[in-house]
Amino acid sequence: KVPLEQRRKMIEFDRVHKYYGDYHALRGITATIREGEFFSLLGPSGCGKTTLLRTIAGFEDISSGSVLIDGKHMEDVPPNKRPTNMVFQSYAIFPHLSVGQNVGFGLRRDPRSEAEKAKAVEEALEMVGLKGYGARAAHALSGGQRQRVALARALILKPKVLLLDEPLSALDKKIREQMQIELIKLQREVGITFVLVTHDQEEALVMSDRIAVMFEGEIAQLADPETLYRRPASRRVADFIGVMNFLPAKVLGEGNGHVQLEVAGLGQVDVTDEQASAKPQGGEPAVGFRPETLTILYEGQTAQDRESPGVIDEVVYYGDMTYYDVKLDGVETPVRISMRNVFGRPVLDVGTQTRVAWSPGALVLFR
Ligand code: ATP
Repeated sequence: KVPLEQRRKMIEFDRVHKYYGDYHALRGITATIREGEFFSLLGPSGCGKTTLLRTIAGFEDISSGSVLIDGKHMEDVPPNKRPTNMVFQSYAIFPHLSVGQNVGFGLRRDPRSEAEKAKAVEEALEMVGLKGYGARAAHALSGGQRQRVALARALILKPKVLLLDEPLSALDKKIREQMQIELIKLQREVGITFVLVTHDQEEALVMSDRIAVMFEGEIAQLADPETLYRRPASRRVADFIGVMNFLPAKVLGEGNGHVQLEVAGLGQVDVTDEQASAKPQGGEPAVGFRPETLTILYEGQTAQDRESPGVIDEVVYYGDMTYYDVKLDGVETPVRISMRNVFGRPVLDVGTQTRVAWSPGALVLFR
């Protein structure tokens, strides 16, 4: 696979602003999406992700700035002339048509022969795992199958960019997770650039090459899933993606690429400049860490790195894992620790006095 930065630029946003009347919905979006990338727009309701997606499709005019697709300015190009196709949340398939007729719908005015079109339909159905379903009635399909039909209908037109607006949100958890994996595979196979809108952080992490996290019309961070998870650029991003524990910290000194801290519940810690969040954000400094970077030590176990005492305040059992909320000594707010359950090892009770193992390298400094 060619590294992203070496690929052609497929979509370029340059200082894109969008106003709805007085309301400033997009506030200077600048970003580049590469050819064949699986790119997600992630953010809470109302942050502008759908608006941004619609500016690619041409369903939304922009107030200023520019949007380029495959090197071409799109300002004067209507939606039906753009090399894009959109799959909606409410996959609007036609219930009175067959599956094949639904998929072939966009080929109505295609000059190819009926036999060639039928072959294209069959290929598109095969792509989405519905080989042989062409003659079935569309209304008799399950939610997951309807979503596939909607995908096939978009893919048959061979767009350069496929736009997906919360395509899986109507499906229940199991089918949604299955469709996520199928979509990634499909995207890899067809090599088309996918831009996905989602408010589901897990979905974005699972599926994307890169994610733009948006708040209030701005991109707060644009990075690959691992960087977003491990090195969130702000407390807000950290809070939006997964669970992040925060402990108040005091900066004792810095230099030589390190910051010396006094962290509540953990004591004195050195972190590298890399672990210190890029943007100082005012307010009190805090150290953040993910639940799985801490481990509860059982009797006889010793920490490989550092350990701190605490008491278990709450236990949430999930079968394969357990969440422990632990009050570290001297800290009122418990921190959440996730532990993989091991057969034969008891789940600990609320009130258990315990020791928690951790490593300075897993911390992120927000200040
Ligand atoms: P959601 O997940 O709820 O759809 P979103 O992040 O996709 O949220 P957008 O739909 O892009 O958000 O909307 C961004 C903001 O712009 C919202 O505050 C919304 O109310 C406003 N907005 C969107 N479309 C219009 C419109 N046609 N006229 C006026 N305001 C609009």
